[in-house]
Amino acid sequence: MQTLRITHYGEPILTQKGEAIEQFDDNLRNLADQMLHTMYEANGIGLAAQQIDQAKRMCVVDVLFEDGPPSFNYKLDGRVPPADLFMPMALVNPEIKSFGEKTEPYEEGCLSFPDIRGDVIRPTEIVVEYQDLDGAPHSLECDGILARCIQHEIDHLDGVLFIDRMDHKTLGTIKTVVKKLKKQTLKKMSSEK
Ligand SMILES: [Zn+2]
Repeated sequence: MQTLRITHYGEPILTQKGEAIEQFDDNLRNLADQMLHTMYEANGIGLAAQQIDQAKRMCVVDVLFEDGPPSFNYKLDGRVPPADLFMPMALVNPEIKSFGEKTEPYEEGCLSFPDIRGDVIRPTEIVVEYQDLDGAPHSLECDGILARCIQHEIDHLDGVLFIDRMDHKTLGTIKTVVKKLKKQTLKKMSSEK
């Protein structure tokens, strides 16, 4: 399986909106497989198409990294199937339909920002509608790490990054390393031209 190159902060693709996916074929399935493989290799729990240099509306998620029962609540199409039946997930053309009222901070990381972490305040519960790799529509209600991860990944599909969601205080503590990363990325991009 091919490991794809993960794009880093400073590359313009990361601020691009993804195009809706219309073809549900083997190419899409292969892309999802490669994205999952790349995500696991990098020890991530989510990866969006922009992070492998494609402006498409698809992300992959697997938050079952701990043994034991899942730490989050969920309802998939009104039912509660075992989480490992639908995880890992590929969410195609996902849209968040509603957010819960409660919000909380949580320290997030991002594969496009190696070794950089910071608190992001987000709603704790969401309802997301998406299509699977066969194009079938689903509705997922969830909270905890699953809701957190899906919100982070869907932001990527809209060209929004976790630093855009941080408050000034948090951003202040990581500003220097973020700037350094951008500089490195731009330097690398110009040397590859
Ligand atoms: Zn990310």
